[in-house]
Amino acid sequence: MMPKLSRRGFLGCACCAPLAAGMSLGAGAIAPAHAAGKKTDLTADQALQLLKEGNRKFVADAPEQTATAQSRDPQLNHERRLEIARGQTPFTVLVSCSDSRVPPELLFGRGLGELFIVRNAGNTVDTAALGSIQYAVAELGVPLVLVLGHERCGAVDAALSVVEKNATFPGSIGQMIEPIVPAALQARSAAPANTNRDDVLDMAVRENVKRVVTRLRTASEPILLDPLKAGKLRIVGARYDLDDGSVDFFMES
Ligand SMILES: [Zn+2]
Repeated sequence: MMPKLSRRGFLGCACCAPLAAGMSLGAGAIAPAHAAGKKTDLTADQALQLLKEGNRKFVADAPEQTATAQSRDPQLNHERRLEIARGQTPFTVLVSCSDSRVPPELLFGRGLGELFIVRNAGNTVDTAALGSIQYAVAELGVPLVLVLGHERCGAVDAALSVVEKNATFPGSIGQMIEPIVPAALQARSAAPANTNRDDVLDMAVRENVKRVVTRLRTASEPILLDPLKAGKLRIVGARYDLDDGSVDFFMES
């Protein structure tokens, strides 16, 4: 019989647990303030503000950004890496699409150890994603969950094709886009008959985000409900514009 894993043991994977106490990281390492167990001091409002400011900067600076400029960024350098090596203090859980044009840290101007990212094609929330979000909120004390859809999302487009022409997809792709189909259905039926397909797709992108936000807000488990009720957690939706780089935030309350 397999030994029963403790909760700590279960969560003690290399990717998300603090390193064992006493483990040396070499000379010059570690600011004690970031040792294991430390959580972000930011409120949900402050976290949201940082993302908005970061995106504004991204939109304004993107053309001039160079590798040299990035290496000077205090959130991306050697010291920052060592500072967070023993314990992460992310301030946002970002549920976003795998799309290569939507790199979360870049478009919000963030660096190492700031965003806890759940990413899949179509920014949906399955059991693994939900558990990851709950882990970040309950164990890491993250005050903000942002669900980010984006313009011309291929996964939402595929779901819309299912609605429009009963399209099918090979392998596990069909199953993956299944949770998006209700959003595509809603967008298709809400759009006037002569609506441009790109616009219907964009309606479906936003609807998909809204549904994920609503699902997270109304999930019956107290692990998210309790901090929501106490005002310690916000769950917000957003849509990223591929053309101009801006993020439109919605469902802020
Ligand atoms: Zn996408």
